[in-house]
Amino acid sequence: MAKKLHVDVVVIGGGAAGLFCALTAGQRGRRVMVLDSSNKVGKKILMSGGGRCNFTNLHIEPENYISSNPHFVKSALSSYTQWDFISLVEKHGIAYHEKTLGQLFCDESSKLILKMLLDECADAGVSVKTHCQIDTLEKTEHGFVLHSNIGEVRADRVVVATGGLSIPTLGSSGFGYELAEQFGLTVLDRTPALVPFTFSDFMKPVCENLSGLSVDVIMSSGGQSFREGLLFTHRGLSGPVALQISSYWSPGESIEINLLPDEDAIDYLLRAKASLGKSLLKSVLNQVLPKTLIVELEGLLWPTYARTPLAEIPDSVIRALGSNLQAWTLKPSGTEGYRTAEVTLRGIDTRHLSSKTMECLDHPGLYFIGEVVDVTGHLGGYNFQWAWSSGYAAGSAV
Ligand SMILES: Cc1cc2nc3c(=O)[nH]c(=O)nc-3n(C[C@H](O)[C@H](O)[C@H](O)COP(=O)(O)OP(=O)(O)OC[C@H]3O[C@@H](n4cnc5c(N)ncnc54)[C@H](O)[C@@H]3O)c2cc1C
Repeated sequence: MAKKLHVDVVVIGGGAAGLFCALTAGQRGRRVMVLDSSNKVGKKILMSGGGRCNFTNLHIEPENYISSNPHFVKSALSSYTQWDFISLVEKHGIAYHEKTLGQLFCDESSKLILKMLLDECADAGVSVKTHCQIDTLEKTEHGFVLHSNIGEVRADRVVVATGGLSIPTLGSSGFGYELAEQFGLTVLDRTPALVPFTFSDFMKPVCENLSGLSVDVIMSSGGQSFREGLLFTHRGLSGPVALQISSYWSPGESIEINLLPDEDAIDYLLRAKASLGKSLLKSVLNQVLPKTLIVELEGLLWPTYARTPLAEIPDSVIRALGSNLQAWTLKPSGTEGYRTAEVTLRGIDTRHLSSKTMECLDHPGLYFIGEVVDVTGHLGGYNFQWAWSSGYAAGSAV
């Protein structure tokens, strides 16, 4: 006979948000069961931050999140802050450091963050089940019933924490979105974000030639700008700045790169013309840009003046070149997609959810948390903080 289980709360998905919600609810004395389809919970935590998990950021602000309702994150982020999570990390004796721009990483391994969450779950009596395939979720008069390969599970409350679509090999599925649609919630069109750009035009060989080179730049698109490292790869443009801008870029749009963020390029070149008139452009730019990049830029931006001494180059040409170096405009053919994207942009429309508890306004007892919701953080620990904060909000309410 198939097993029948009854708990207070079922959490579907044992990733960052699901585990945090489960331990919070468990600490309140609720009987909680986490059901995950994968062979292991918390796979993205293990993979994150190059194995060191960038678990939060010192400078969490609502402005670091993209959502069709920019106010939605405020309540959850202020109820459970980065300082709360840092205290928990310290309570577990996990050593960490700030890498850059407020980003906090484990000194040793992401495994410690997952162990911390699972230890907290165990202390709170949370039961965590892997290899669990859920076939159906139905609302009944008294709560919810789930049919799965481990039997029928009844629960008063159900929290959906199945994450986004990125990196399918880490257990991602569209199940959370399907459940949302089943209950009549709108799911906003999703796209891969925090993802490298690809090119099919002249930039393809340029990126190949420069593969491995990193430069500090300002990149802009979709009305946003970021200053961080740009990395050329065999496939296109990556590095923190490209990942950040990918969340604001739309297919068909251009990106603009300021290769000299600390200079007024026109002024720099005109001063060089006055004092170093016999020099070539490439020699003057050598002071401020890597040699390999200049070789490629020369072929693209000033091929006819490659051998012309600066003094003989008209000011108008120098001005145009200076502008180009500070607004190098490129048109990506696309992105690497969900295969390598860190997150999914958009998702379940926040209009259906309470920003305080993450509960569905039209379906009491049903909650959606974490990345499955239309909230996407910037790169730098912001997505995990949303997982902790939204998990805490639901875990305190279920
Ligand atoms: C390579 C990589 C590195 C990253 N690094 C960072 C970082 O350093 N800092 C940061 O802030 N963010 C980082 N992120 C983003 C961050 O991992 C996610 O935003 C975060 O994990 C989202 O948490 P979640 O709980 O909503 O979803 P997830 O952590 O994705 O968890 C979803 C869970 O649901 C389970 N699941 C899926 N479908 C089903 C189903 N049908 N039934 C049952 N269970 C199901 C999955 O197995 C998984 O365990 C990274 C992402 C990737 C891919």
